[in-house]
Amino acid sequence: MIIQLKSTVSNERMSELASSIKAFSIRYNEKNYLITGSGMKEVPAAIESDVEHHWVFANDMQLSSKKFQSEKRVVKIGSVEIGGNTNNTILIGGPCSVESEGQIRQSAELLVGLGLTTLRGGCYKPRTSPYSFQGLGLEGLKLLAKMREEFGLSVITEARDATHIDEIIAYSDVIQVGAKAMYDQGILRACAKTQKPVLIKRGFGTTLQEFVQAAEFVLSGGNQNVVLCERGIRTFETGTRFTLDLCGVAWLQEHTNLPIILDPSHAMGYAYGVAPLAKACVAMGIDGLLIEAHPDPSVAKSDASQQLNHQEFGALLNALRPVAESVGYKIV
Ligand code: PEP
Ligand code: MN
Repeated sequence: MIIQLKSTVSNERMSELASSIKAFSIRYNEKNYLITGSGMKEVPAAIESDVEHHWVFANDMQLSSKKFQSEKRVVKIGSVEIGGNTNNTILIGGPCSVESEGQIRQSAELLVGLGLTTLRGGCYKPRTSPYSFQGLGLEGLKLLAKMREEFGLSVITEARDATHIDEIIAYSDVIQVGAKAMYDQGILRACAKTQKPVLIKRGFGTTLQEFVQAAEFVLSGGNQNVVLCERGIRTFETGTRFTLDLCGVAWLQEHTNLPIILDPSHAMGYAYGVAPLAKACVAMGIDGLLIEAHPDPSVAKSDASQQLNHQEFGALLNALRPVAESVGYKIV
């Protein structure tokens, strides 16, 4: 249940009420709310006089649900707003991993040259083998920060586990919680304590309900700047790396108030399919796209087969603009 308190309720009283009914308390859009599990169906009699309004839910999709707030949330990624009525589709580019200063500078130059604003690169890579490149760690974060400084780009990078979440928060403009890390409550709870936008990727075996519940950890903990990212789920099919769940995207658009970014690169796993998939994604009227691009994909230290080269990335941007326009959106 979400309980909106009367504006006359003091902060002190709000804390008392929250602990008396074991609720989370948040301030959102200038209003104070208490949030309990969806098992609570009636406002407790003892607090009735403090309550302005309340919402009852069938399950724990609460703050993220259209039933609570029908308008899509606005989230600011650096200087760009997505969601709400902006009709912006942000194109986030960059390599899978930050590998060297020369490489990430080329990525930054590519984006700036194309008029884009947001650079993504992994520094702590959640690899499936301990023998693969694990990322440059803090050194990579410092390179991203340098690119932000030199080029005025916003940067987004992934938290692999809770041990370095503070570093990620300090160095990035958007925190990416990866498909393998989205159940990590240390990460989710830490993301709730900052106001930086958090991009949560759907795990490849994660139901839509579990996905939005991961977002609820961040929202109920006090950070309202959450964006969901569909990046492919595992099916019986092995010809492609994963299966991009566009049905799931339609479901999220129908039932949640969170902006949605799609990642066809990780879903497909092969560069040849990324552009056609990206067009299909944009045609759904989405808030953003995450596309991996590398100055020379053949030598990439991770996800080499799916990264576009820079010429392909530029061509994709041009091809996406009319698709976005046809559904009333613009690529930014
Ligand atoms: C990535 O974004 O490079 C990545 C590892 O993605 P995912 O968490 O979706 O596998
Ligand atoms: Mn990758």
